[in-house]
Amino acid sequence: MNEIHLSKSKYCRAIQCNKMLWLEKNKPEEKGEMDNQAVLDNGTKVGELAKGIFGNYTNIEYDENLDKMIYDTKEALKESSNIITEASFKYKNNFCSIDILKVNGNSVEIYEVKSSTEIKDIYLDDISYQFYILNKLGYKVTKASIVYINNQYIRHGELNLSELFNIEDVTDIVQEKRKEIEAKIKEINKYMKQEDEPKQEIGMQCFKPYQCQFWKYCTKHLPEHNVFQIRKMHKDKALKFYYEGKINFKDLLEEEMNWKFKQQIEFQEFNYEPHIDKQKIREFMKNLYYPIYFLDFETMQPAIPEFDNSKPYQQIPFQYSLHYIEKENGKLFHKEFLAESGTDPRRKLAEQLVKDIPKDVCVTAYNMMFEKGRIKELAEIFSDLSEHLMNIHDHIQDLMIPFSERMYYCKDMQGSYSIKYVLPALFPNDPELNYHNLPLIHNGGEAMNIFPKIKDMSKEEQKKARYGLLKYCELDTYAMVKVWEKLKEV
Ligand code: SF4
Repeated sequence: MNEIHLSKSKYCRAIQCNKMLWLEKNKPEEKGEMDNQAVLDNGTKVGELAKGIFGNYTNIEYDENLDKMIYDTKEALKESSNIITEASFKYKNNFCSIDILKVNGNSVEIYEVKSSTEIKDIYLDDISYQFYILNKLGYKVTKASIVYINNQYIRHGELNLSELFNIEDVTDIVQEKRKEIEAKIKEINKYMKQEDEPKQEIGMQCFKPYQCQFWKYCTKHLPEHNVFQIRKMHKDKALKFYYEGKINFKDLLEEEMNWKFKQQIEFQEFNYEPHIDKQKIREFMKNLYYPIYFLDFETMQPAIPEFDNSKPYQQIPFQYSLHYIEKENGKLFHKEFLAESGTDPRRKLAEQLVKDIPKDVCVTAYNMMFEKGRIKELAEIFSDLSEHLMNIHDHIQDLMIPFSERMYYCKDMQGSYSIKYVLPALFPNDPELNYHNLPLIHNGGEAMNIFPKIKDMSKEEQKKARYGLLKYCELDTYAMVKVWEKLKEV
């Protein structure tokens, strides 16, 4: 029996970088962790749902023994199943499972399902690899299509699969790639036989189409403060400096670049005292007045719209924290809302929000475009609350501005104006403001991941998860209060 060397995901990884595949096989312990569980969960749900796009189907169950899947596929084909999902095939050492296979007598159509809202080049490589295997096995493949999410779909009632998914025929492109694939498979097989670690310079392939999980390993030779740490510098620009040998911050001091990049480098290199433009901060602070509210939302982004009047990947707010002070030297109060997992959280959240925030008060958010966007969406679907919601919307001020516009900057912000950098830079070693000290939830990604899962947890786990969410969101707005106090102080 032939050993299986390639699968469609391995083939795609090799398209991005051969070395990635080599390291996966030979140094798997060097692989960094993937930080996007929500993306994976979305992918799984989309894949399952899309199986039903053409109606009834025969599913080939996943089995560690891939030959069993191949056998089951043959049986399903013998039974003249019209639609087979996860149909599995092998040609030499190349294995693939086809998301949806449509069988029409002697010919077949292949459908590759993606949870994204657009077609990326790598998807074409993915489906071309499947097309190649089926062709080599003697199947007549009449069509190859990518099934992906239509982000314009708005759910009303039952999910409408034919509206939720776009299907794009890419047969022509796949036909053109045929020769390329054979050559690529040969190249991969040769590459994977190498015993010594292959030499491969870092490049754009490390970031596109996906951030490579071996980045830390492949850049272990770089100094601590290097060109790739310049916040928001385009990767191609950073790579250009890198190839020119300008890697350390000190090598970059004389280079032409955006003043914000330069500021980050100079503050790091010369250990400058914080830059505080008191005049500009004073001007900014004139926009804030009592009563002052500090608002922060947590949201989830399901690929498949779970509720009426929502689109794929729409940000659905399910929680907020609110601190407020009514007058100068007044007491700090706190209110919060956390929806029941598994229900549409928006109506209750909107109702509570208009109870908790009176009209015409000063509301602050950190990165207000986000909070304003969510409030506007709520106002659009709840016309009876719209006036009050839009009043809140119109009174929002952005506490991020003093940092994004560098009115206040210090070395430890490392070029970032995210509150996760600003806070420890302004209040170093304050355990009360340290996100690492929180129970269970430490960032927005974790909050987004856990909320939809709470409904399936035991009572005890639910309690812990809800407590973790409340504490996390509370710290977000408490951090804003501290930032505002700091700005007042200066
Ligand atoms: S970090 Fe870059 S060079 Fe290293 S394996 Fe990944 S893609 Fe290849």
